[in-house]
Amino acid sequence: MQVKNISKRLEKVASFVPQGDKILDVGSDHAYLPIYLIQQGRIVSAVAGEVVEGPYQSAVANVRDNGLSDKISVRLANGLAAFDVGDQIDDIVIAGMGGRLIADILERGSTKLASVRRLILQPNNREDELRRWLCGHDFQIIKEALVEENGKFYEIIIAEQGKQVLNADQERFGPYLMREQSTIFRDRWRWEADKLEKALAKIPEKNLAERSAMSQKIKQIKEVLHASE
Ligand code: SAM
Repeated sequence: MQVKNISKRLEKVASFVPQGDKILDVGSDHAYLPIYLIQQGRIVSAVAGEVVEGPYQSAVANVRDNGLSDKISVRLANGLAAFDVGDQIDDIVIAGMGGRLIADILERGSTKLASVRRLILQPNNREDELRRWLCGHDFQIIKEALVEENGKFYEIIIAEQGKQVLNADQERFGPYLMREQSTIFRDRWRWEADKLEKALAKIPEKNLAERSAMSQKIKQIKEVLHASE
C-alpha cells in the first residue's frame, strides 16, 4: 500500500521534521509517518517503534510493501526502548496519544534524551501536563501548531533542549498559540468554553466547589480570548 497521502494532522507533524534528519516514530501503528517522510524525500531513514503486536505487524507489512525495509527499522518496543544511541536519532515523534502518556514515555526514557535534538509531539489531550513535563526537564518549546481535522483540534508541540518557564495560561493554551491567537485557536477555545458552560449548567447549585472549578476554567478561557480583542 502506497502512503502518498496521510492525514492533515500527520502531514503537519511531518512538516516539523528537519530535512535529512533521522527520526524515531513512537507508536507507529502503520508506519505511515516514516514511510511518507521517506517518499517525500525529507528523510533517508527512520526507526518505527510500536508496543502492540497487531499494529507492529501492520507497520512491518506496510514498510515491506513499500520496499522500504532497508530504510525503516520497525521494532516491537515500549516507548524509547525502541532506540539506543547507536541509532543516531535526531528527532523523536510521538503523535496521537494522550499528553500524560507522552510525558510518561519521555519520563521513562529520559536518560536517552540527551542525544536527541528535537521532540515533535502531538498530544490528543492534557497538553498542559505535557508542557509542564517538558519545561521541568530542560526542554523548551520552540514552535507550536494547531490543526483541525474532522471536527477535532490537535495541538503539535515542538521542543528542543533548553530552559523555559511557563505560567499557568501558557501551559494550558500554549505560549506561541496563545500569542498568535489564530482563527483556529479562537474557534477551538470558544468551542471549549461553550462545552464547559453547558456542563456547568448541569452541575447542581449545591456542588459549590465543582461549580467554582468549572467557572474558573471558563473564566481563564474568556480572559485569554479577550486579551487580543
Ligand atoms: N502515531 C500514529 C498517529 O499519530 O496516527 C498512531 C497513533 S495510535 C492512536 C497510538 C499508537 O501508539 C498505538 O498503535 C499504540 O499501540 C501505540 N503505543 C501506545 N503506547 C506506546 C508505547 N509506550 N510505546 C510504543 N507504542 C505505543
